[in-house]
Amino acid sequence: MNAAWQSELARLGGWTVVWLVIGLLVGKLATALFIGSALYLAWHLLQVYRLSRWLRAPEATEIPDGGGVWEEIYRAFRLLDRRNRRSQARLENLVSQYEASTAALPDATVVLAEQGHIAWFNEAAVTLLGFRSPQDLGQRIVNLVRNPSFSDYLHAGRYEQDIEIPSPVHAGSLLSIRLIPYGDNQRMLIARDVSQQQRLEQMRRDFVANASHELRTPLTVLRGYLDMMAEESGRPEQTALRSWVTPLGDMVRQATRMGNIIEDLLKLARIEANNGPARHEVVPVAALLHKLVEEAQAVSNGNHRIELQIEPGLDMLGHPSELQSIFSNLIHNALQYTPAEGDIKLSWYSDAAGLHFAVTDSGIGIDRKHISRLTERFYRVDPSRFSRTGGTGLGLAIVKHALEHHEGRLEIASEINVGSTFSCHFPAERAHRRNAA
Ligand code: ADP
Repeated sequence: MNAAWQSELARLGGWTVVWLVIGLLVGKLATALFIGSALYLAWHLLQVYRLSRWLRAPEATEIPDGGGVWEEIYRAFRLLDRRNRRSQARLENLVSQYEASTAALPDATVVLAEQGHIAWFNEAAVTLLGFRSPQDLGQRIVNLVRNPSFSDYLHAGRYEQDIEIPSPVHAGSLLSIRLIPYGDNQRMLIARDVSQQQRLEQMRRDFVANASHELRTPLTVLRGYLDMMAEESGRPEQTALRSWVTPLGDMVRQATRMGNIIEDLLKLARIEANNGPARHEVVPVAALLHKLVEEAQAVSNGNHRIELQIEPGLDMLGHPSELQSIFSNLIHNALQYTPAEGDIKLSWYSDAAGLHFAVTDSGIGIDRKHISRLTERFYRVDPSRFSRTGGTGLGLAIVKHALEHHEGRLEIASEINVGSTFSCHFPAERAHRRNAA
């Protein structure tokens, strides 16, 4: 038993003795003991009252002092109170540090409560989004950022990707917006000014497109002369030019390759310049694939077995020349990387997940470690093979960009020396059925 309880019991003992003596002296023992107990109880009730008053408003009143066991109880409460105050101060410090750091962020940060009401925003939200403090707190964000794509993004609930919208404050500026859901139905909005990046990206694209365009004409002239010289050096009567046959043949091949690279760079630039979803034009996929297979058969010259499976009546909405680029690049690669006697299977079909175009070959395959990088521009699995096949290294980059333009995606499965499957998946909304039309 601790000291407080011992002193409390001693106090009770002493109190009882005092009232016993008084009772004996006045000859009314029961009455004296009753009065003693009532006073003791009243003193405890007073302590309970003081404690409950303090508990109701701990900040407003000091913790009361009491004797005996109450000393012990008050000491425990005082300790608890001190600990609480310390952790509250720590939390307040943390919150103010967090607020100071987010306030200093160059990105606009907005905390959204349920239904998209603004609960808090930082300084950058004032400059980037034009919010006013405190008037705009509690407002619905869609009433302040008036943009249909933003409203759709906010309500769709799919926040894996950012969206870009024109700045509501500065004309000509572009904002990248990302929503991050957290806690109980809360969301944090981060907005960044990406105008500068956008301008640099546009400059890069323009530069590549212009440089490719400018190189086209001189290269055509060079190729013309090279063709002429190669033809001339091949004539039997031109004995003096015989040693030039091989170098001129090489020059023609390399010039052709350069021409292909320039054409692919221009194609890529054209696809990148087409912002927004590909236009909704009905593309007769079956006819297009039949034509591409015919061309592939001519290139293969009977060296491959090419099979085509098509779902009858299935066409799609999209951009004809971009779809042709996707299909022909994948077919061309299958031919290029499948040795003679190999099989190439093409299929075009739909299911609940959408529309699919797949090219399966029994070719050389690709090591797993390269697969995620194949769609990068000029990525080479094997640089020596690259120069031999005469590929541009841009085919799959074109496929990827053209697919993105159709809200599609590329899936690659491959095994070395077994073969590869390149599948293109398009959303079901792009289907167009001929009999239903
Ligand atoms: P390239 O002009 O070199 O074919 P691509 O961008 O079309 O450029 O392809 C990139 C690389 O992916 C190729 O260099 C090749 O190594 C590999 N690749 C593409 N398709 C296939 C395939 N069907 N089988 C094996 N490797 C392939």
